[in-house]
Amino acid sequence: MIKTDVVIIGAGPVGLFAVHQLGVIGLKSEVVDNLDKAGGQCIELYPDKPIYDIPAIPECDGKSLTESLLEQIKPFKTNFHLGERVEEVTRENNNWKIATNKKKFFIAPNVIIAGGVGSFEPRKFPLKELENFENKGVFYSIKDKNYFKNKNIAIFGGGDTALDWAIELSKKASVTLVHRREEFRGAKHSIEQVKKLEKDGKLKIKTPFQINSVEGKNKIESITIKNENGKIEKIKTDSILGFFGLIMKLGPIAEWGLNLNKKTIPVNTENFQTNKEGIFAIGDICSYPGKLKLILSGFHEGALAARSCFKLARPNEKYRFEFTTTSKTVQERLGVKKSD
Ligand SMILES: Cc1cc2nc3c(=O)[nH]c(=O)nc-3n(C[C@H](O)[C@H](O)[C@H](O)COP(=O)(O)OP(=O)(O)OC[C@H]3O[C@@H](n4cnc5c(N)ncnc54)[C@H](O)[C@@H]3O)c2cc1C
Repeated sequence: MIKTDVVIIGAGPVGLFAVHQLGVIGLKSEVVDNLDKAGGQCIELYPDKPIYDIPAIPECDGKSLTESLLEQIKPFKTNFHLGERVEEVTRENNNWKIATNKKKFFIAPNVIIAGGVGSFEPRKFPLKELENFENKGVFYSIKDKNYFKNKNIAIFGGGDTALDWAIELSKKASVTLVHRREEFRGAKHSIEQVKKLEKDGKLKIKTPFQINSVEGKNKIESITIKNENGKIEKIKTDSILGFFGLIMKLGPIAEWGLNLNKKTIPVNTENFQTNKEGIFAIGDICSYPGKLKLILSGFHEGALAARSCFKLARPNEKYRFEFTTTSKTVQERLGVKKSD
């Protein structure tokens, strides 16, 4: 059981800045995100696209904004629990008990939900039988590429992720790249590269084909693929990788007894608290009259929610408003070196 002042659900830009706002007022937080990296939509949907409306930063992109936010919260040495989805939030005396799908438990007086448009989940194969092989032969992301050394791999998908992994894994494994359309839709350079690898006999391409069946009891032995004319081909394989993009699901958040308005959580704009004391919602997931789904609004919402978390985390202390420019305490928390 991990005890902390605040559990933040979501490591998107808004969750990351909330870590900062909690840190400067002396509160500890733990961050959980379903994705394997911090940054939310910025890193997952538009890492290279320019953003022009972050205050005082004329231009940045999703990746550099995430990196700057992570740099800014470094002094607080916050723990990130990535690749874990928060499943349950239940009351336990005066605290909230938070449980993840990996059976990790947190106890805290405050929860900040910065869940954006919900948790990002991989779009999966339509074939039911493949569910039994998930993480035992069927994968939707790669944690350690060395696991695939010398394996017979079938990679499905037509976008950049499928192409990039096909190129990378063909260096150490036997790869068949399968796509349901004739044309790939990834970067031109990557498409040319896979076609060259195919010509050189270093990779096989099967288009337009889709998965049809899987054979094997405890482990995958082979699959069949089918094209639109009904032609079926068998591929000997032990690993199947599916890269079909991500879907966003509000998921378990809808089960925590919070008031919901469509897929958002209504909040009180004084402190961004939901209908449950100690549970706050900020960023894209919260709603109130006039809400703008912009990163800058989420930063403001996090600042106010953090001050309210203080009351429950330190019931015997009085919160004092201080500027970062002049407060010695805040500067110590930030690890600012004193100048003579
Ligand atoms: C193409 C595009 C361009 C954009 N351009 C701009 C722009 O120029 N300026 C601007 O201000 N905004 C822009 N936006 C909007 C901006 O990206 C969002 O407002 C912002 O990402 C919201 O941040 P967030 O932290 O609230 O949520 P998100 O970035 O959505 O992050 C939420 C995180 O919560 C996680 N999560 C959800 N539920 C759970 C759970 N149960 N357990 C664990 N983790 C969970 C998700 O996996 C996700 O990582 C753009 C959006 C898109 C798609």
